[in-house]
Amino acid sequence: MHALPPTTVHRPASLAEACTVLAATAQARLIAGGTDLLPNLRRGLEHPAALVDLSAVQDMADFAAAPEGGWLLGAGLTLARIASDTAITQVLPTLSEAARAAAGPGHRSAATLGGNLCQDTRCIFYNQSAWWRAANGYCLKRDGDTCHVAPHGARCHAAFSGDLAPVLLVLRAEAELMSARGTRWLPLDGLYRDDGAAHLTLAADEVLARVRVPAAPPGLATGYRKARVRDAMDFPLAGVAVALACSDGVLEQLAIAISGIASRPVRVAGLDGLLGQPVDDTMLGAIGKAVQKQVSPMRSTITESNYRRQVASTLAQRLVQALAHGAAPSPAMTR
Ligand SMILES: Cc1cc2nc3c(=O)[nH]c(=O)nc-3n(C[C@H](O)[C@H](O)[C@H](O)COP(=O)(O)OP(=O)(O)OC[C@H]3O[C@@H](n4cnc5c(N)ncnc54)[C@H](O)[C@@H]3O)c2cc1C
Ligand code: SF4
Repeated sequence: MHALPPTTVHRPASLAEACTVLAATAQARLIAGGTDLLPNLRRGLEHPAALVDLSAVQDMADFAAAPEGGWLLGAGLTLARIASDTAITQVLPTLSEAARAAAGPGHRSAATLGGNLCQDTRCIFYNQSAWWRAANGYCLKRDGDTCHVAPHGARCHAAFSGDLAPVLLVLRAEAELMSARGTRWLPLDGLYRDDGAAHLTLAADEVLARVRVPAAPPGLATGYRKARVRDAMDFPLAGVAVALACSDGVLEQLAIAISGIASRPVRVAGLDGLLGQPVDDTMLGAIGKAVQKQVSPMRSTITESNYRRQVASTLAQRLVQALAHGAAPSPAMTR
């Protein structure tokens, strides 16, 4: 990695000021904890004209009950706090579990919720030093004209590998986006698109300010399971979140979302047909098939695509079974 090139750093004290600076500075980039962006800058993957550092923005790390019910999480909350603050762990235990499974303790002390949701997509041909990429003729995502993962295609398949997004998707969270033009809320799903080179719908002048998690309906059980190469610290090869409600063994609600297997976190579609049926082997088979059908990981990691598809399917089945039978949540990590 190179040393960081000289860069102008703005340090606004409020979100309004951050939005004004962003609007006035072409090609500026937001930086929060820097645990995702700084390695990318030092690898020469990005060359922003200026950085807008969010670490001094007031009230950005607040956690509070939402007036309309549910919870409001500031984008500046660190993963360490989400993982350990009892005010959060008691009401959003699965989000805390996913935060504990992300990166290492040092990263989590600086890494933020906003940075986790907006982190760049990843690929073994991309997250490399400048000389490595040059020797490989660069690639379609930056400076080259061929995707080494899918050479005949015209798009990038780098994978979104954030741990928190799938949990927030099954909890039906919404994102608050602020800019000098105003504020808008959108379902978290709407923040993403399936394009590894442009996976966020966020405009260049927008800041992710807060996340709103609605109050969970009574009886909703949630869990997160993560497959990775190294248990100590690694991005998910597949990170699966499930939210379900059952009554007398019959499924009443089910949502599944998966990270690490596409350029966006994927919410598994078509599960409503399973409602009203018992959670048995037939249902688990149908869930496994639905995941396998909708998940098409590409060779953007050192691990085989088919392994990631199979592991996503198996983790979803196991998690549904455990939650449906009231099993105590076991650790998020698995291999
Ligand atoms: C060794 C290592 C291991 C890691 N392992 C994991 C892992 O297992 N799981 C995982 O999920 N992540 C992992 N990460 C990635 C990273 O640590 C986390 O995603 C972290 O939460 C990023 O947050 P940050 O505040 O540091 O983001 P930053 O690096 O500051 O920003 C990341 C991106 O988000 C944008 N951004 C930041 N805040 C906002 C905002 N409020 N509004 C709009 N855009 C914003 C920035 O412009 C940048 O593009 C790992 C990183 C490293 C270096
Ligand atoms: S998926 Fe293709 S274009 Fe995208 S980063 Fe990897 S090699 Fe580059």
